Amino acid sequence: MRLSVIGCGYLGAVHAAAMASIGHEVVGIDVDERKIEALSRGEAPFFEPGLPEILSEGIASGRLTFTTAMAAARGAKVHFVGVGTPQRADGHAADLTYVNAAFDGLVPFLTPGDVVAGKSTVPVGTAAGLAPRIESTGAVLVWNPEFLREGFAVKDTIDPDRIVVGVADGQTVDAPGILREVYAPAVAKGTPFIVTDLATAELVKVAANAFLATKISFINAMAEIAEVTGADVTQLADAIGHDARIGRRFLGAGIGFGGGCLPKDIRAFSARAEELGRGESVAFLREVDEINLRRRDRAVQLVLDGLGGQVFEKKVAVLGAAFKPHSDDIRDSPALDVAVRLHGLGAHVVVTDPEAIANARAKHPQLTYEADRDEAIRDADAIILVTEWDKYRRELSPSHASTLTAGRVIVDGRNGLDPTAWRAAGWTYYGMGRP
Ligand code: NAD
Repeated sequence: MRLSVIGCGYLGAVHAAAMASIGHEVVGIDVDERKIEALSRGEAPFFEPGLPEILSEGIASGRLTFTTAMAAARGAKVHFVGVGTPQRADGHAADLTYVNAAFDGLVPFLTPGDVVAGKSTVPVGTAAGLAPRIESTGAVLVWNPEFLREGFAVKDTIDPDRIVVGVADGQTVDAPGILREVYAPAVAKGTPFIVTDLATAELVKVAANAFLATKISFINAMAEIAEVTGADVTQLADAIGHDARIGRRFLGAGIGFGGGCLPKDIRAFSARAEELGRGESVAFLREVDEINLRRRDRAVQLVLDGLGGQVFEKKVAVLGAAFKPHSDDIRDSPALDVAVRLHGLGAHVVVTDPEAIANARAKHPQLTYEADRDEAIRDADAIILVTEWDKYRRELSPSHASTLTAGRVIVDGRNGLDPTAWRAAGWTYYGMGRP
């Protein structure tokens, strides 16, 4: 099938390449010329495992092209819209400028029977507002939220755990049928395919993210209680996680969530609920956000504690900059936030990360970056682990670290290290919510 994908960022570039890899003919469209040039050369403009391979395969096969010209969307049967919906500069609501611009740009090139599939995460009610704008073209609008996880985006796009398609009342085109054809390999496998109305589809996405954020902040709230009682939140998480109704996943206490989705999505959800007169229904999300941000303060405090109350001119090695491993995404990264705060307190901060240094440097040029992990920790007075890359969590032994650093203080912002092993090697170990 001929498809267009409008917006070629973390979501759209992967979606375009993944759709080509399952046999579709895809044009990816973006306003960012540099991104389109890179993608056209088969280069992924960001780090995502597996993406370079499917990009070059798609381009070599002739089924995958990229352009800045919206006119190239003409002739596609389905148009996926995956442009950004960041937090507005003046508040917590979602900024819909890019979604509106993408629809404005696309409308002249739609033909009767086309399906426009919104993939961006939008406040509930957005799709109903957009539908009339494409009605006169004879195309139909569906909302097809995306649940991919960065770091596993290729797999999640080709083989999702569910497909949700929101449709408007009284549509004459069988849009869900067309999307079943688009996602044929997943549908053939029996992947749940859930057809809803537009509002439900929009809500499914924000509800899923709100739930995940709440689960993380729940365990981080337990970490705060553990910290004043001497309890160990990791044991607590293991023990409650054995209850199948609770489950152990997303119960990792640490410096909390970040990235281009969870923080802005829970804020936009709260803002939208306020607009709908139901602010109190999701008032807990404010608490979820606050707990999350407090954990960053806690991590900074632990470094201060470890260094005797002040970090001025002390070298602190920060292991990680990306908001999570297997990604170079630094949007709202708790790791970088901690680094910036330590820098603000006068520490000589050296940040290392396997993939995210270029992005981090562009955003925070005031910090010092070092690609080599061992060079980053050399002569450090303290180390703080903030992104749980295997290179730091599994592959850095306390005995090896001891040969490089000046001090013996380690703050484990992700509870990923073995406290016994680090203490046995003479280190002062601080975890999050553990004694
Ligand atoms: P992104 O910032 O990486 O990409 C957005 C892209 O849209 C950019 O390349 C930008 O240049 C392009 N764009 C902006 N205006 C345009 C226009 N008028 N025409 C064409 N292109 C335009 O963002 P992202 O992470 O890919 O997220 C996109 C959307 O998907 C957001 O709503 C996000 O919440 C949602 N989402 C993201 C993820 C994820 O893991 N990144 C997962 C699920 C949902």
